[in-house]
Amino acid sequence: MKKTDYHIHPNYSIDAVPFSIQAYCTKAVKLKLEEICFTTHVEIDPVRRELDNFVAVNGERLSVWDFTWLDCYFTELAQAQERFKGAKLRIKAGLEVGYCPGQEKAIERIVNNYPFDFVLGAIHCLNHISISSKQESPLYFQDCTLNNLRRDYFSTLQAAVESDLFDCIAHLDLYRRYGLIHLGPEVMTIHREMIEPILSRMAKQGMGLEINTSSYRRGLKEFHPTKEILRLAVQAGISVFTVGSDAHTLCELGDNIEAALLLLKEYNLNNHIFTQRQAHVFPFSAANS
Ligand SMILES: [Zn+2]
Ligand SMILES: [Zn+2]
Repeated sequence: MKKTDYHIHPNYSIDAVPFSIQAYCTKAVKLKLEEICFTTHVEIDPVRRELDNFVAVNGERLSVWDFTWLDCYFTELAQAQERFKGAKLRIKAGLEVGYCPGQEKAIERIVNNYPFDFVLGAIHCLNHISISSKQESPLYFQDCTLNNLRRDYFSTLQAAVESDLFDCIAHLDLYRRYGLIHLGPEVMTIHREMIEPILSRMAKQGMGLEINTSSYRRGLKEFHPTKEILRLAVQAGISVFTVGSDAHTLCELGDNIEAALLLLKEYNLNNHIFTQRQAHVFPFSAANS
């Protein structure tokens, strides 16, 4: 099976264990991954400027707006691409942007000024609170009903899709991560009649959908998104899919990627890679698989 991992946080992400791009590449070769994409976090909500609008370069925090980090990032990626050519590992330059409504121009300043292969869009915050963080998410969920979550999450997701700034949407139903604990099993159904028009819009724009395996590490029983949502995505006409571990440390690289690829196969869907923000089916022909 030809494997990829399109969601990796090296030491540039402030919430990752600081393993270098090179360390991930060495591990990727051992795991027989054929292509990987680094997706450093970019959080740009000005309300959270002092909290998470940072990246790390050589252990030092830099504002995401100090673009020297991007120069370092691309230099380091180019060195890795050169170094791992012989090992036949292809290495791509990506980002995971935490979408914040109203900040589209700010996102454009980053994604349109550097030669990214792949830009993931993610909903990490609602009402300026991180719903993906164990420490912060109780603040959001404490006074939250299923209806609040439904309204907040899907209106933000809709705006993210309509911005058309992203190649692919990461962990589409991330609200399950802590929503399940705070709001109970009904959280599994809040997407119904909300997500269908959003998925149709994604299909129309050619936007991809990620199968994110990090949910298994957090005790959830399905990947992001659930099979129910994946079926709706297929019905809506989405045809571009990527697989990603969302590794924040070396031992998470490639985690459950085979199972994610088998899931795509079960639904007759193709895994994709991206080059200069263009999607390609991977592997290129069935004969290679
Ligand atoms: Zn994320
Ligand atoms: Zn991530």
